[in-house]
Amino acid sequence: MVVDYHTHTALSGDNNQTIDELCMSALERGINEICITEHVDFEPEDHCHGKFNYDTHLKNKEYAKEKYPNLTVKLGVEIDYQKKYLLEIFDLCLSYNFDYIIGSCHRVDGINLYGNDAYYINKTEKEAYYHYFETVCEMICINMFNTVGHFDWVKRNGKHFYGEFDPNPYKNIICEALKEMIKRDMTMEVNAAGFRQFPRTFYPHIDILKWYKELGGENIVYGSDSHSPVQTGLEIDKVYSIFKDLGFNKMTTYTNKIKSNVTF
Ligand SMILES: [Zn+2]
Ligand SMILES: [Zn+2]
Repeated sequence: MVVDYHTHTALSGDNNQTIDELCMSALERGINEICITEHVDFEPEDHCHGKFNYDTHLKNKEYAKEKYPNLTVKLGVEIDYQKKYLLEIFDLCLSYNFDYIIGSCHRVDGINLYGNDAYYINKTEKEAYYHYFETVCEMICINMFNTVGHFDWVKRNGKHFYGEFDPNPYKNIICEALKEMIKRDMTMEVNAAGFRQFPRTFYPHIDILKWYKELGGENIVYGSDSHSPVQTGLEIDKVYSIFKDLGFNKMTTYTNKIKSNVTF
């Protein structure tokens, strides 16, 4: 069983990938199940703002289900978390039938971590990273998400300022977040976008995966964060072999937000 649980199409507003391109590229890479996790951004200045449409999303999923019977297609969403949009987030999560919901901290204190340096400038490495993980922890505790998107995404741009990311100085706050995830039976996403971005490795750092396992975390899933056909299933074999090396032997999938663990 090979799954990719973080994918986008043009409906996300930040790419041109068609539903056919996404499904065909998944099948080409031997993937049996994808979850389409379109962006929902509540921040008016964000380029994805206002692009999401649930009815179109559902229609796309039904179309894919019909056209590609060898591929299981799930209806997901990637929500941009900010505390000031709590009501909007609750409303979205509770009003629609998603299979799987990703919460992502693309912004901290309203500042986009990617595309500008404002978050990092005038912050020490410790301040920048610690505060990001505090925000991740706060997001987990709102109890609306099945996973955290690209768990240590702060390192994407942080690497430009502070060099290679080492999670060990932030072990306490990271483990606090991991414990909150485990308490809620959430899943750890291993996001391959980092391979094609500046970190040149997956999110999260391997030590964070080890801590998650040590703390009793068992739910794990691969997500390519595909925004174009070449990105679908990126480095999937490498990630699956890391899972095996770390002692994970089941992949988590979701239907109507109910999880099942499938052997791979
Ligand atoms: Zn994201
Ligand atoms: Zn994404």
